[in-house]
Amino acid sequence: MTDCLFCKMVAGEITPDTVYEDDNVLAFRDISPQAPFHVLVIPKRHISTLNDLGDDALIAGQLTLVAAKVAEQEGVAQSGYRTVMNCNADGGQTVYHIHMHVLAGRSLAWPPG
Ligand code: AMP
Ligand code: ZN
Repeated sequence: MTDCLFCKMVAGEITPDTVYEDDNVLAFRDISPQAPFHVLVIPKRHISTLNDLGDDALIAGQLTLVAAKVAEQEGVAQSGYRTVMNCNADGGQTVYHIHMHVLAGRSLAWPPG
């Protein structure tokens, strides 16, 4: 997807503040952090929304496992963190390449806004 911001990061056209990368997944710091620690975990393959994931259980699992790995690596696993995937308008999705938010570093309110 040539017009997708996150595909441009995967392609190296935009350089994010990367915290983790493997063959299938990239994780980088959110440009507008909503907590002291805010990382996005994305699949390298373009998938627009969670509704378009189909039966790709591998990617779904990898996003979750990398979120936990990054939390451990960055030292927030024990204090705690939240993972969020926003889907479409009511979910608050603004970038249409799926991503898992990992938020930490303060006590997060519930329910979300
Ligand atoms: P969402 O609203 O769930 O689609 O999340 C998209 C996220 O991407 C937001 O938290 C944005 O702050 C973040 N974002 C947008 N542009 C960039 C960028 N260039 N680098 C890092 N994060 C970005
Ligand atoms: Zn994309």
